[in-house]
Amino acid sequence: MRRPLVAGNWKMHGSRQSVETLLEQLASQDWPDQVELMVAPPALFIGQCNERLQSTPIRVAGQTCATQAEPGALTGEISPAQLRDAGCEFVLVGHSERRALFGETDEVVCKKFAAALACGLRPVLCVGETQAERDAGQTTTVVARQLQAVLDTFGVGGLAMGVVAYEPVWAIGTGLTATPEQAQEVHAMIRARLAMLDDEQARKVQIVYGGSVKADNAEALFAMPDIDGGLVGGASLNADEFGAIARAA
Ligand code: PEP
Repeated sequence: MRRPLVAGNWKMHGSRQSVETLLEQLASQDWPDQVELMVAPPALFIGQCNERLQSTPIRVAGQTCATQAEPGALTGEISPAQLRDAGCEFVLVGHSERRALFGETDEVVCKKFAAALACGLRPVLCVGETQAERDAGQTTTVVARQLQAVLDTFGVGGLAMGVVAYEPVWAIGTGLTATPEQAQEVHAMIRARLAMLDDEQARKVQIVYGGSVKADNAEALFAMPDIDGGLVGGASLNADEFGAIARAA
């Protein structure tokens, strides 16, 4: 009943030329009908991506957004309203790189989630523990805390209007992937916590896995009952690999 989502996070990669080449290659892939597809390019390339991907099922996302929808004196920021105006349908919020390198707190991430929803974007709320937190047995505590601010404000129904991405920090860009069982354990924990609040809505929430997803591990991950697709970093910069991951969902 939940449609899988396969999303690509291009991070700070690409030039106009390399993006053009990647878009051409993406446009010629064979995309599965039953899977939602999205890429999050650097903001500079959102227009180019929207134009070139119009004839494909791939939608475009921002990698982050401002905490407010209204225009203002916020040099360097991009509002969710501007992302929507540029044709985006999704925006990532709370990616671990934003949390770790740019000091985004749960409160800030919640404001971004709220602003995105208010603009008609689907926020992808990224959560996940570091290696030290996992080693200390704190995975559940950390992930529950990261979800809580959004749940307090919007409930499970609001969360279901977006997407949850479970991305263990130790698996992002490291080549270390959570095993399907490790990932499923956390996805099931998330869904069980949501179900305690609202069982019906909890069944609708798309929970995707991120952390070194590749063509050769995607099928086993996506076969897990609570893993509804993937958020793919490095491998999404290769159209053939991203296509193979999408077809595994
Ligand atoms: C990410 O950036 O969200 C990510 C999961 O990266 P990678 O697939 O490269 O680990």
